[in-house]
Amino acid sequence: MSSTAKPLMSLDDALDTMLSHVQSLTSVETVATWDADGRMLSEDVVSELAVPALDNSSMDGYAVRSSDVHPVGSSLRVTQRIPAGSHGQALLPGEAARIFTGAPIPPGADAVVMQEHVSVDPAQPEIITINQTVSKGQWIRRAGEDVSLGTVILPKGCRLQPAELGLAASIGRAELAVVRKPRVALLSTGDELIMPGRVAPADMKPGTIYNSNRFFLRALLQRAGCEVTDLGIVPDQLQATMDVLGQASVEHDLILSSGGVSVGEEDHVKPAVQALGVLNVWQIAMKPGKPLAFGWINKPSSVTPQPPCFFLGLPGNPVSSFVTYLCVVRPFLLALQGGVERDTAPYQLPIHFDWPRPDKRREFLRVRRNGHGGLDLFPNQSSGVLTSAVWGDGLVDVAPGQVLCQGDLVPYWPFSHWLS
Ligand code: AMP
Ligand code: MG
Repeated sequence: MSSTAKPLMSLDDALDTMLSHVQSLTSVETVATWDADGRMLSEDVVSELAVPALDNSSMDGYAVRSSDVHPVGSSLRVTQRIPAGSHGQALLPGEAARIFTGAPIPPGADAVVMQEHVSVDPAQPEIITINQTVSKGQWIRRAGEDVSLGTVILPKGCRLQPAELGLAASIGRAELAVVRKPRVALLSTGDELIMPGRVAPADMKPGTIYNSNRFFLRALLQRAGCEVTDLGIVPDQLQATMDVLGQASVEHDLILSSGGVSVGEEDHVKPAVQALGVLNVWQIAMKPGKPLAFGWINKPSSVTPQPPCFFLGLPGNPVSSFVTYLCVVRPFLLALQGGVERDTAPYQLPIHFDWPRPDKRREFLRVRRNGHGGLDLFPNQSSGVLTSAVWGDGLVDVAPGQVLCQGDLVPYWPFSHWLS
């Protein structure tokens, strides 16, 4: 084995190399804000409106002039009623306006009194008595306190999520410019793989396993905003594999495969990519992970030169595939979409376990936050145990050779960060 061992490459160096080759997709499309969940914004969204547009009430109650309410127990005459969606008249000294949440504050008023703090004499319902001190500005939402006119509310390169869609809608944007979805072709290698549904569990031949990677990789790609084509199982022949990959490269920005990148493995995907373009097979100093293939297939440059179709080959072990997707494919796709990473720093959380025998490689442990502010470790960290990724809610990033003890603060990424 040692004769074939290559020096290990750090994950950061591998990422830098890959990202240095990526050009962001330039084609932009306009989509309805309604349908833009998960898309990558390709414009700075500038507000043509202040939100809220006017000072308005944050309570159901009475708009008053605060200087009229001294001392506590003062009475005012209710002269108008302002429901949300309407606007009132100027409030004169000694007057109050019945007002509801969201309704604009009438000119002259400078405070709102909650209806709970007001008493109304049934014999004289237009007269209210205020039973609390009133400070200027209370229960008023100021114009522009959410969004001020002319500001960038959503920057180019931000991934649109539910709150972003709401904010865009709050300034009246019915459409948004987004980057076209990356087109990714997905394939799995391995003669042992069987698609669920094809063979019942009781009838599985010895040595065969179900293809699990294909399911989570497809879902991960879709969550990353990609259009996924499933190439299925590639033919067991070099020329046929080259034909499939050559064709796929025309239509796609990335071909993603899992399995078959281990040292000495026999399959046709690696030689096919090599024959059609460029392929690097790296040994990455990470665990799970290690083998990783990166390259590209040049597209036929019939009219204008086009960016190549990239190729990424992930290891076959399910947890290795899952973790390398998060660490490698995700940032790659983000760069391809011209996206900007939002939260770059991991959380620092204490571990509630010991880690006495670290690996020489950087290690990503599957852990779960417990109810005591710390992290628990899934007991089996094997790269084949996909249960660890389901039980866990995130990854701890352990530096090469680092011994850890109960209570040590470690960098922790929740899966929610990587999956958005
Ligand atoms: P490989 O990277 O091809 O050497 O595969 C390493 C291990 O992962 C082997 O035990 C494979 O059977 C398994 N494996 C490869 N591809 C898949 C897949 N798509 N789904 C589940 N297990 C896989
Ligand atoms: Mg294999």
